[in-house]
Amino acid sequence: MKSYSSPFRGTGGMIHNFNAGPSILPKQVFEEASQAVLNYNDTGLSILEIGHRTPIFQNIMDEARALVKELMQLDNDREVLFLHGGASTQFMQVPMNLLNEKETAAFSDTGIWAAKAIKEAKLFGNVDIVCSSKESGYTFIPKDFAVPNDAKYFHITTNNTVYGTQWQNIPKVSIPMVADMSSDILSRQINFNLFDLIYAGAQKNIGAAGVNLVVVNKNILGKVKRTIPTIMDYRNHIKEGSMLNTPPVFAVYVSMLTLRWLKNMGGVDAIEKLNNEKAAVLYNEIDNNPLFTGTVAKEDRSKMNVCFVINDKDIEEQFLEFTKKQNIVGIKGHRAAGGFRASLYNALPLTGVQVLVDVMKEFANKFS
Ligand SMILES: *Cc1c(COP(=O)(O)O)cnc(C)c1O
Repeated sequence: MKSYSSPFRGTGGMIHNFNAGPSILPKQVFEEASQAVLNYNDTGLSILEIGHRTPIFQNIMDEARALVKELMQLDNDREVLFLHGGASTQFMQVPMNLLNEKETAAFSDTGIWAAKAIKEAKLFGNVDIVCSSKESGYTFIPKDFAVPNDAKYFHITTNNTVYGTQWQNIPKVSIPMVADMSSDILSRQINFNLFDLIYAGAQKNIGAAGVNLVVVNKNILGKVKRTIPTIMDYRNHIKEGSMLNTPPVFAVYVSMLTLRWLKNMGGVDAIEKLNNEKAAVLYNEIDNNPLFTGTVAKEDRSKMNVCFVINDKDIEEQFLEFTKKQNIVGIKGHRAAGGFRASLYNALPLTGVQVLVDVMKEFANKFS
């Protein structure tokens, strides 16, 4: 594993960016991307003014798709697409392509994003919510549930960005699996070929906002009766090599750079080790610091989004102010969950976590 530095910006010194998304990217990616805006690869042209049908961009798209295949170790049935829109577009595009009107899709309801995916799927067919942690404020991942064999597919959100829970074990089912991996894709080693469709908005672990990564098993397509609008039909995107129309050129380019960076870091195995270490350091502090408490079931804790509260709510604002002075940004919890959330995506270096932990310790010395 190579060491890497975090981006430093601003006049106050190193910034430690825990934003949930869009979020931190490797410093090297920011540098290369900004250079490419001015003069791409000494072409005298900006990446923003290059035709998407030129060999220049074709190479970028080809490399991005190949890197995804390699990093995720995908088999040959799986196609890699970079599509417009955020993950929210996939909430509808998935059922539009996979679910007939009278058929049922099984869903796990593990957070705000899962609930939104459920809402959209209902526009296209029936939805069976086979498990939910909603009643408990989405603080755990359901364990005991059955997925009906006659459902068309089973949808999970592998990491629940808002609440800080993550499926540590991918459930084994006999029907196709669909996953929203927006906030933990490429952060840990799982068998990605277990899924027939994976989607992820790029702005957390892959690159810049404005593009979705979609990995789809081509064998499950073409089985619905409805007429799918051209741009919504995955098969058309596969046929055209993810260039059906003008792709989000810059967002794809930034994704390619980030994927390249990940490969140079040692790939998913290496980043997983680092992510485990970062999460362990922060959870250890949460568990041992008398001021703070983790908000979700320990066995379901996310290694990407660490959610916690301060026990005495009266000093919450003071803690936020205190962290700001140390150049820590983005740790305020989602408006639906409250408290704090520190997002530890791939590009966040361990040093950032250590700074946060030191600040928590220092704050505890003052207030307890
Ligand atoms: C951020 C996020 C989304 C939403 O992505 P958009 O690109 O804003 O549509 C969906 N699902 C999960 C798990 C997310 O973390």
